[in-house]
Amino acid sequence: MMRIVLLGPPGSGKGTQASALARRRGIAHIASGDILRGNVKEGTELGRRAAPYMERGELVPDELILDMMAERLAEPDAAEGYALDGFPRTVAQAEALDSRLLEMRQRLEAVIYLEVPETELLRRLSGRRICPNCNAIYQLATMAPKREGICDACGAELIQRKDEQPEVVRTRLQGYARETEPLLDYYRRTRLLHEVDGTIGVRSVLAEIDRIVKESAAEAAGKREA
Ligand code: AMP
Repeated sequence: MMRIVLLGPPGSGKGTQASALARRRGIAHIASGDILRGNVKEGTELGRRAAPYMERGELVPDELILDMMAERLAEPDAAEGYALDGFPRTVAQAEALDSRLLEMRQRLEAVIYLEVPETELLRRLSGRRICPNCNAIYQLATMAPKREGICDACGAELIQRKDEQPEVVRTRLQGYARETEPLLDYYRRTRLLHEVDGTIGVRSVLAEIDRIVKESAAEAAGKREA
């Protein structure tokens, strides 16, 4: 059982790492962006309200996100633990998550911050392709699909996200700096924050995260015994 938050700018590798970590640990991979894109695709009320913000590269208002995440975290698979990817993204969201955890008498094991310089983020975001069917993520230069334009996992045709055009990417990075970066200090204060160099390669980052997660779990077990 473990609850992990992946934190980092768009393009830092949160999605790839959260998905690998969840698979390895048998926990749920909960990606707020994937849930939102699913709602947009299905034309739900939430999707209709969130879409204009997402298209501009702005954050969706907290109230919509908080309802959506409360619902998602209440699903049975989340009881086995989760890797959160893209949530929380504002201090208000982190506070809401904390009060939920407190209510449930649960705690986060670790918050992992993937650090990647902006030039590298811009390069990665322009080369990213995603599967609209199973949400798998590819990178043209380093993690290309076996067949060009086709998802290895499910065979669907890959797409480029609409919000990965250069002007929208700029808005997303600015929003990250303004709204999400303050979370680093928030989690530093709770001693949950672990910084990982996000440029060392997918496997090395995963190994590093694995090490942190193991240590945090051992530490938590030690605290319970003491
Ligand atoms: P992502 O796939 O994580 O990059 O998310 C795509 C878009 O969904 C973001 O640019 C936001 O518009 C929106 N979004 C996802 N997660 C959140 C969140 N926790 N708070 C606000 N907006 C979000």
